[in-house]
Amino acid sequence: FHSIPDKINLCSNQSSVSPSVIPYKSSSNISSLETLKLDGCFSFDNIDYAAKDFGDMYHFLPSAVLHPKSVSDISNTIKHIFKMGSTSQLTVAARGHSHSLQGQAQAHQGIVINMESLQGPEMQVHTGELPYVDASGSELWINILHETLKYGLAPKSWTDYLHLTVGGTLSNAGISGQAFKHGPQINNIYQLEVVTGKGEVVTCSEKQNADLFYGVLGGLGQFGIITRARISLEPAPKTVKWIRALYDEFSKFSKDQEHLISKNSFDYIEGLVIINRTGLLNNWRSSFKPKDPLQASQFISEGKTLYCLEIAKYFNPNESDAMNQETESLLSDLSYIPSTLFLSEVSYVEFLDRVHQSEIKLQAKGLWEIPHPWLNLLIPKNKIFEFAQEVFGNILTDSSNGPILIYPVNKSKWDNRTSLITPEEDTFYLVAFLSSAMPSSTGRDGLFHILAQNQRILGFCSSTSLGAKQYLPHYSTQEEWQAHFGPKWEVFVLRKSTYDPMAILAPGHRIFRRK
Ligand code: FAD
Repeated sequence: FHSIPDKINLCSNQSSVSPSVIPYKSSSNISSLETLKLDGCFSFDNIDYAAKDFGDMYHFLPSAVLHPKSVSDISNTIKHIFKMGSTSQLTVAARGHSHSLQGQAQAHQGIVINMESLQGPEMQVHTGELPYVDASGSELWINILHETLKYGLAPKSWTDYLHLTVGGTLSNAGISGQAFKHGPQINNIYQLEVVTGKGEVVTCSEKQNADLFYGVLGGLGQFGIITRARISLEPAPKTVKWIRALYDEFSKFSKDQEHLISKNSFDYIEGLVIINRTGLLNNWRSSFKPKDPLQASQFISEGKTLYCLEIAKYFNPNESDAMNQETESLLSDLSYIPSTLFLSEVSYVEFLDRVHQSEIKLQAKGLWEIPHPWLNLLIPKNKIFEFAQEVFGNILTDSSNGPILIYPVNKSKWDNRTSLITPEEDTFYLVAFLSSAMPSSTGRDGLFHILAQNQRILGFCSSTSLGAKQYLPHYSTQEEWQAHFGPKWEVFVLRKSTYDPMAILAPGHRIFRRK
């Protein structure tokens, strides 16, 4: 094993190389990084954390972690590796907040870029007719929310959880209950600054380097590292009316969801599948109030498969009466079980940051950093009933391993020029099985059982040709990736050869082999 030369940029507290971390071949490549002049530094020791993510199922140890202080640190590192050509097998993975599920932000024996150490210019909010914020690709959405709120503004489209980076969600899509109205986060971006797989720093938008712009949005990090994004904003409301109601028939539930997304009157529309849960409505009472407390107290959820509509209406305190009237009228069109209507009023921040509250509780119980065998699917509207019958009526017998989300979105609001792959139909559902696995369990809450269940769901989708697509996709072979991209595969490959011809970037997806 080679030792690291003195001159290389090492983080001050990390000065030696562990032979178990760097095998001979990549060590020699790594030592060539000594010529780089960086504002930040590399670390080679104590880098096990870069082989871990939220999924906690894949662990690929890198050879080094770059802590960039500037965009040129990222650009110089990639340029250097690119120039080494095929004499090096080094790959580079941008690591945002590492909330990937299957090692997508990891680089086996490569370099992980710890994006959160990037010190870009401060966030800049621009007010005016088309307000926007310029933010670093490493910024967390929660920080963007707090900063833009100082100007009475906020992004239009969110994820359910805001402790994720801009670069991490824009590489996928960024989908939540606002997506039926505004499209996913990738459709609400005016401009990006990107470091390509050749190390070039490129500004791109709809008008400038459009091919790279649309390629990077939803592009799974394959074409460039996002260092800056211009995100469109809207006036932010102060308060949110947050509503839940239950259905015991899937057809009524989905009909109402589809009706609501077509009316465009609410600001957020999601849903949950609840199978055989005890004391469900009692659990809601800490955050929601029943419209009819007596009836609600008599409702029994055990043994049933229920569908929970979750909707929200944004408003400011002076619009409260009008908002209540409109909401009442919209609710009167729906077919939920009347005794299960629950309402709540919370601040806009409380509403958007809701999952973080669950995170805090789970962290305290030691139940956050455990394996997460999640499965996210996009199912065409015309097949959702068939899917629901088989999956919620047959494959799953309870929903105790974690939430199951289900809600429709309108493709007309989504820009199909991005790299994101969706079903062909105009309306499709996001169905997210957000399971947690008990680390040492061999039972129904164990990793093996949940992964087998996921495989049964995927198997059902493919054997019945449902036209489903994975969101946050994960495959093992290039053939599967090709099938995932379908007619868009050729463009994807062409873009890879244009912007990252040596296949240096984002190796964790295992789509392309390093050249
Ligand atoms: P990482 O895991 O660090 O990286 C993800 C991928 O993006 C990797 O391939 C990485 O190399 C690449 N990448 C990271 N930074 C950059 C960059 N700057 N430029 C280019 N590529 C980059 N998704 C939704 O759409 N909607 C949700 O509601 C939602 N909720 C979630 C809730 C939780 C609790 C969790 C754990 C995840 C959720 N996700 C959701 C999924 C999440 O959007 C993705 O996993 C996202 O990639 C995580 O962002 P991150 O910053 O942790 O990225």
